[in-house]
Amino acid sequence: MRRILILGGTTEARLLAEQLAARRDLAVTLSLAGRTANPVAQPVPVRSGGFGGAEGLAAHLTREHVDVLIDATHPYAAVMSGHAAAAAKSTGVALLALRRPSWVAVAGDHWIDAKDGGAAVQALGEAPRRVFLALGRNHLAPFVAAPQHFYLVRSVDPVEPPLAVPRARHIVGRGPFAQAADQALLTAHGIEIVVSKNSGGEATYGKIAAARSLGLTVVMLRRPSLPAVPAVETIADALAWIDHGQATFAEREV
Ligand code: NAP
Repeated sequence: MRRILILGGTTEARLLAEQLAARRDLAVTLSLAGRTANPVAQPVPVRSGGFGGAEGLAAHLTREHVDVLIDATHPYAAVMSGHAAAAAKSTGVALLALRRPSWVAVAGDHWIDAKDGGAAVQALGEAPRRVFLALGRNHLAPFVAAPQHFYLVRSVDPVEPPLAVPRARHIVGRGPFAQAADQALLTAHGIEIVVSKNSGGEATYGKIAAARSLGLTVVMLRRPSLPAVPAVETIADALAWIDHGQATFAEREV
């Protein structure tokens, strides 16, 4: 029985687990950070909460006799990806990263590349604007430095405490978000500029397409740099790698 640990918190992790769940030759566990109050149901057993850094993860991999680690975390979960790379290296456990490709601007898009939250704040300018922050709780703090703007903040769970600015509206919502609904949302709140991560994938692309339709600028928070490890972009490629492409597996099976 091969033991696979998937670091999740993404749609891709859930879908990969779904594909592997019925396999009798695999024991698959999905790991969540445990931040979301009501996580969606998962097709395989779930463990929840941090491991205690790279060393904690390495100890977990050894203790649970994990053969393969799949880092299917969100592309902005760079700390976890760093820990996965370090723990795989120190334990010799095979590691594959499943990373969605970035969105690429198309005709009609007006994107401003922001290297970090501070640069995103700068990109909003001095004059008061009506801003949609589609960022999640981890990335909101820099915007407190620009209290002149109105912020519409959308997150999966309520932001506690709320963003400390005079004019903010917080809404909760879990994707997928359709373009039409996001367009209606941006219009209803008179949004002039959107701040987004370049998450990739379909589920949260609605706001990007909506901004294009409305002629709005998107301040795109650049992806963090991630460790150089074997990586694929699709679930199909991850499945192929698990079954055929991974030397350590082959050696252990002999
Ligand atoms: P992060 O900053 O890279 O990681 C911070 C710490 O959270 C890690 O050091 C680890 O704690 C714990 N952690 C993160 N992912 C974990 C997982 N899958 N299983 C167990 N522990 C995990 O992570 P983050 O950006 O806060 O993201 C947290 C979770 O939300 C991830 O599962 C990610 O896939 C998901 N998510 C993130 C974003 C985003 O924009 N960042 C968006 C959608 C979903 P220890 O050091 O104690 O092990």
